[in-house]
Amino acid sequence: MDWTLSHSETLQVLKSMGIEIPTDTKLSGDALEKRLRDALNAAQYKDRLPSPFDLHGLPAWPLKRPNEADTRARSLFEAVQRGNMQEALQVYETKKAGGSTVPTLYVDPFMDLRQTMMGLGKYLDDGLRWCVLQDQEKEHCAVNLRVLSVLEVNERTPAFVVLYRNFDKSTALEGIDWIDEQVDTNPSEVGEVMLNVNATPLEQRLLLRVLKLNASLVPSDFKVERRRTEQSFKVSVLLPVGPLEYDALARLNVNLGCAVCGKRATSRCAGCQSIAYCGSECQRSDWPDHKITCRSLKGGTWRTIRLRSSMPGQDGKWLGFINRHTSTSLGFEGSATQRSIRKLDGSNPPPNTYDDKPFLVKFQVALVLAGLPAHMMMYDRKRTFQAFFYLEDDAWVYADFVREMEGPRGGYGGIKMYRWAKRVSEWELSVCLDREPGTDTKW
Ligand SMILES: [Zn+2]
Ligand SMILES: [Zn+2]
Repeated sequence: MDWTLSHSETLQVLKSMGIEIPTDTKLSGDALEKRLRDALNAAQYKDRLPSPFDLHGLPAWPLKRPNEADTRARSLFEAVQRGNMQEALQVYETKKAGGSTVPTLYVDPFMDLRQTMMGLGKYLDDGLRWCVLQDQEKEHCAVNLRVLSVLEVNERTPAFVVLYRNFDKSTALEGIDWIDEQVDTNPSEVGEVMLNVNATPLEQRLLLRVLKLNASLVPSDFKVERRRTEQSFKVSVLLPVGPLEYDALARLNVNLGCAVCGKRATSRCAGCQSIAYCGSECQRSDWPDHKITCRSLKGGTWRTIRLRSSMPGQDGKWLGFINRHTSTSLGFEGSATQRSIRKLDGSNPPPNTYDDKPFLVKFQVALVLAGLPAHMMMYDRKRTFQAFFYLEDDAWVYADFVREMEGPRGGYGGIKMYRWAKRVSEWELSVCLDREPGTDTKW
């Protein structure tokens, strides 16, 4: 059984993290692998770990002990949560309740990984130290994992030092042998012998990828006490996992090359200049898809507007709005909440995850009783981009936008419209004002 992520699985994982690479990309295996590594590091916020990161020097996490009141103890289930966990919690609860009712919408390897971390946190809170991640049929593959220690990176960041090994049909007996030894060693845990965390084969492969990546955080002289059945187990570290932040998304979504194959792009579509290809073959093959966008952009009037990152005096109001891609629970100094608020305080430009590629923007004005509203809001489908256009910044262009919204190409009662736009600078957006997008806009 192959335990490495296949090419298409790597793309699927990256997509679930917000990094969209064309499915038929010819990005080299190495380039793709590097992007995955960078993405997984970013999802663990590794750039903010203490440097050098030394497991020897970290204090033990104050663990909860079952049936014991300890005011110092802190829940790991809570500590591993990152970003907007509402959606993840919802899925977690659904899974716990029955499993099979999980809507296919949530078949998302990255979300699965985040839930596994929550599951582990919960088990540790309950005093358990080992578990088996297994696919639902409970016969194809499994990852056996024992938590050796939980260390405190900072108040909100635990590090789980783990011993692990993956098993398939041919080695299943050794896996069971290990379970027997755990049960013998910790009779008190027998009540929960089936410590099964449901994990699809893809999720297991992703977890193994993370463990392999994080093995470099374990110093070579780190002492590990292995039990009899653990001689071939590997040691690694697990850290909380959460959504990628804007800067990481921006960094990992650029230089994708040819829109079809990912090879170095050498030319742009002459009709709209908005899309790049490696050559005519790829361009021709993309035409059935691209022509809608292309025709809707062709001959359009582009207007450049000044962007604002927030509305005056209402910064906090939109905080929840962008949470999906902003972690608020890191506990690192100078990061976490401070960072996300700074992004909204007007002094930081809105993040750019599109490079100079066109993307669809929804413009929306606030409802006012009389006169023009003083600003309009804009955002993209993924909500990685959100900004405001103030009337006072350019009253003439602003009036053109309002007229467009109220006119025949606007719709929605004259209060919103969808348009193609591309970033021309940190603080400027160029908008194709007088062309309807000609593509699905139900968001
Ligand atoms: Zn190409
Ligand atoms: Zn075109």
